[in-house]
This record gives sequence, C-alpha cells and structure tokens, in this order.
Amino acid sequence: MVEEIRDLYDAERQLVKALPKMAKGATSDELRSLIETHLEETQGQVKRLEQAFEMLQEKPRGKHCAGIAGIIKEGSDLLEEDFDGAVLDAGIIAGAQRAEHYEMGAYGSVIAWAKQLGEGDVASLLEETLEEEKGADEKLSALAESSINQEAASEGGDQDSMEEGTRRRSAAKGNGGNGASRTSSRDSKNGSGKRSMVPPPSSKPGRNGSASRSASRRS
Ligand code: FE
Ligand code: ZN
Ligand code: FE
Repeated sequence: MVEEIRDLYDAERQLVKALPKMAKGATSDELRSLIETHLEETQGQVKRLEQAFEMLQEKPRGKHCAGIAGIIKEGSDLLEEDFDGAVLDAGIIAGAQRAEHYEMGAYGSVIAWAKQLGEGDVASLLEETLEEEKGADEKLSALAESSINQEAASEGGDQDSMEEGTRRRSAAKGNGGNGASRTSSRDSKNGSGKRSMVPPPSSKPGRNGSASRSASRRS
C-alpha cells in the first residue's frame, strides 16, 4: 500500500507540472478553466498524500510512476501535432480522461487496501481525492458531449486537406468502442474521418477492488 501511495505521490506531482501545459494548449475557455480548476485540486491531492504518509508514519517519498508519465507523454505529443481548435480540445479531453481513469484505478485499490489494513483515516482522506478525480472525469465528459465533440466533428469536415484527412482516418481506426464508430459511415463519404478525436461518451468510475462501491456508503 505504501508503495502505491508513493507511486500516486509521484503521479500527482507529475500532473502538477503537466496540467498547466495542457491548459495552455486548450482552445476552449471552458476546457482551460476546467483543467486549471483540476490543477488546484491536484495540488491539494499532493497535500493529502503527504498527510497519508504522516498518518502511516512514513517519509513522504515518491516512486516514479511510469504509467502517468506515459499518459502525460501522449498528451504532450498531441500538442506537438498540427491539430487545432475543437479537434485539439477533443484530443486533450481524451488524454485528460486517461489520466483521471488511471488515478481512479490507483486510488480505488489504495483505499480498499487501507480499509483492509484498518487504516480508515487514510481511506477517508483518499476518498476525498477519488471523488475529485471522478468529478473531473465527469466534467470532461459533459464538456465533450455538450459542445466540443460536435464542434470537432464539423471543423474536421471544413478543413479537408489530404494530409489531415489521412491523419484523422488513421486515428479513427484506433477509436473502437466510442460514439465515433457509429457515425463513421457518414464520415467516409466526405473522406475527412472527422470524428477521429471524439473521446469516450461517458465516464466509467474506477471500479478497482471494492473501494468505489463502498465509497458512497461508508460512514
Ligand atoms: Fe489527481
Ligand atoms: Zn503509477
Ligand atoms: Fe486527476
């Protein structure tokens, strides 16, 4: 459990550094402020992990989190690409949701283990963080589905350069399972593959272990 908390401590600190870049890259003011708000929450999450170390009488020490490093790397690679506008924003949302889901999985396990080990205070503390991660994930989904995905879809249709069309088509192939594939027959007519950056339609809270299920009920 302590090892996983170290991993999370490192992950949150990586995110504190990375989120400002993602916010800066965002086109939509709403997306930018959502990311900035979550940055503030993330700073508080770092503090909670420091408290957890203290409760467990452990030194606050991080251990490199390769998983979040990979997710952050994909996000910064995306910013280097020549996507812009709502298509870029849709991609940023997809990356941010990957980060949230990764964190939700990790916190879910740590919370379940803390309960198992009789560390109820640690569990309660980290449940506050888990709720923030879920909230961020849900807000990202809501923003994508209420406006950005639709704008991205129509922008994709407007800019129909060969190169971008090719890029988007190939991205669309890796997009199995979300709303994009259901409408792909229409895309293929105009050749833009324009729904390629559409993120998953709804959030799936981290259901690792029993933590998520019991989170809402625990006293
Ligand atoms: Fe976090
Ligand atoms: Zn990790
Ligand atoms: Fe987060």
